[in-house]
Amino acid sequence: MAPTNFDLAPPAATVDGLLAVPCDIQRVTATLEFDGAASSGRGDATVEFTTGPEAGNPIFDLRQTITSAWLDAAPLPPDRLSHHDFGGGAQAELRVIEAVLGAGEAHTLRVQYQLGPPQASTAGSYLPALTWAPGPRLSFNFGFTDLGAGRYLEAWVPANLIFDQFELVLTLRLLNTAVPHAVITNGAVTEVGPHEWSVTFPGRFTALSPLLEVRAQDTLTRATGTVTLPVSGNTVTVEAWKPASGSVDLNTQIGNLRSWLAANEVSTGPYLHGSRFVAFLNVGGMEYEGGTTSSPGPLRHETFHSWWARGVKPASQADAWWDEAWTVYNDQGAAGSLPFDFSEPPVELCPRNPWARITAPDSYGDGNRFFAGVASLIGVANLNALMSEFYDRHLQRPVTTTDLEEFLVCRSGNPQLVGAFHRFVFGFAEPVPAVDLWLRDDPEHGGADSWPGRFWDSPDLWVRHAEDDGTTHQAPVHGRDNWFYARVRNRSLSAARHFLVTFNVKSFAGTEFVYPADFLPCIAATSHFDLEPGASAVVKARWPAALVPPTGTHACWLAAVLARSDLPRAGRHVWEHNNLAQKNLTIVELAPGDSVVIPFVVHNLAGPQTKRLFLELLPTPEGNGPHATLLHDPRVAVRPPLDARVGPAGLGPGVALRLPPGPGGRIPLSVRPEGQFRLGLRLTVPDDTKSGDVLRSDLVQRDKATGSIVGGLAVEIRVV
Ligand SMILES: [Zn+2]
Repeated sequence: MAPTNFDLAPPAATVDGLLAVPCDIQRVTATLEFDGAASSGRGDATVEFTTGPEAGNPIFDLRQTITSAWLDAAPLPPDRLSHHDFGGGAQAELRVIEAVLGAGEAHTLRVQYQLGPPQASTAGSYLPALTWAPGPRLSFNFGFTDLGAGRYLEAWVPANLIFDQFELVLTLRLLNTAVPHAVITNGAVTEVGPHEWSVTFPGRFTALSPLLEVRAQDTLTRATGTVTLPVSGNTVTVEAWKPASGSVDLNTQIGNLRSWLAANEVSTGPYLHGSRFVAFLNVGGMEYEGGTTSSPGPLRHETFHSWWARGVKPASQADAWWDEAWTVYNDQGAAGSLPFDFSEPPVELCPRNPWARITAPDSYGDGNRFFAGVASLIGVANLNALMSEFYDRHLQRPVTTTDLEEFLVCRSGNPQLVGAFHRFVFGFAEPVPAVDLWLRDDPEHGGADSWPGRFWDSPDLWVRHAEDDGTTHQAPVHGRDNWFYARVRNRSLSAARHFLVTFNVKSFAGTEFVYPADFLPCIAATSHFDLEPGASAVVKARWPAALVPPTGTHACWLAAVLARSDLPRAGRHVWEHNNLAQKNLTIVELAPGDSVVIPFVVHNLAGPQTKRLFLELLPTPEGNGPHATLLHDPRVAVRPPLDARVGPAGLGPGVALRLPPGPGGRIPLSVRPEGQFRLGLRLTVPDDTKSGDVLRSDLVQRDKATGSIVGGLAVEIRVV
């Protein structure tokens, strides 16, 4: 069974008293039969689908009149498959199967219908049509558009919203004509008999992918050429068609297509669509996977869409802005750079309505302008390189706008992108008053930027081995995906319409971390919406297995909340800004008498002055801490303990200093500008502890002049 995409689906919704839930179509098997004697056509389609995590009435779409239906082979009156308005805009209704199905089940729906003009939007310049001319000669075309609802596969064949990938197997049968016909398609065609074809489309496809035309052969002209592509090395046959009466020079266009296909591989990445590119040179301009129907003017634009739009595919229609925006940016040379102007009105390219069925009309001009703004922030070459990398990573499943935002912020490390998405993609105004989002540094932390208490073990930041929504921190497990979690709070009087949380990992414990260099670029980020005043929300992001360090690495986690009008200031520590949090907590299991060494780093990368500091082990309230020793380079054999008064000069390689808790045990260090020490905290479990005891240690770094704590790390020993 194919994987499901429920994580990309719209939420369940109650419509006209029905609890409507998304389903995931696995395969559609349909016969479209055209009768030249009656000048008619009919469809018979079977949809194999699975239900999601919620029981309810599944949603799908078909813009034809259903005459008979069966659910799991039992007859179902067609009026129980009616359209309902989900609030997605003009003509964006969806059919709901009026039958409550359980969660996680497999079902089949079969429908029969007369083929006629789709009951859908008539937007665009090349409409879907089924017409007959003397002969009889059939002219049938899918005629998709992004600009009107109900105009993808659902115009002719049952289909899902575009989050869903499914296999499509079509049988095309032409009755009562002797005139030879041809099939123009990006599917794999097998002629199974006279006037009968089987066309299959791969399980990667969504409702916006398949290209299909059936026309009398003598009304068409066909030519082909080949090109060997420079990145994949694949040889692609360019299959070009036009109406026989058309004036387009196919050979000229084949030459253009050969050069554009090659150029797109160089700019963006390998061609996804096998060994064919199919172009029907006719009217309008519409993209398909490895194909297009287009007049010559937009042909280059539509060809680029086989990378962006029909290579990387949008997960919803609201997400489809970026495929037009990035394609126009490339049409214009992929070199635009123009700083954002936040006095310009907000622009909504990605509406927050999951039922929207059309690409935002401003996606072309304002979308191109958005990418020019991004280029001004991160550099044209960097933007092009990142978009190419995003392409490579996202060919398997449709992607969201937040996927793109998270990726660009993580990889570029530019926090201003969050405000740019806020205003010029999501269309949100400036929050008044400014929002103030924060993460606690300590259970006692009330939300102020400045927090004098313990800050190196944030209770609002934790790691889980799995996406189980647990709320206690777990030591990460190597070799699998782990999950970052954070609890974000809004202490302002404004709702936070949009914010993003970044997660970074230092593969060493450090006592001092500074924004932005230690926080950005980052490993993962997660984008969110609508946190009300006084509210909090738990957010999460996948920590990819390949980036989880080996077992035994004592990592430190750093998180930052980024929002329009609420970014951390450069140079701030966690305890100086409430948008920042760190979890410098190592959890180890040890038996009585055993030891562990926690490596950590002390540096002076910020200022021109020699940094003078103390390292100090805080006393525990219980007074039962492990015995502590400070090592310089923990890989070197430990010498007998030295006097703690020996200064930095005495802390040479291999030196070990006893580190009793409290001010009396402080160890002074001097770190020259650009200096960095790699130290080790060796903790030994006292012999008199018992299995089940938990020992906690906090090692802190104090500024020598002010006495204030500027960094810290926590160790929790679970005695076994
Ligand atoms: Zn386009």
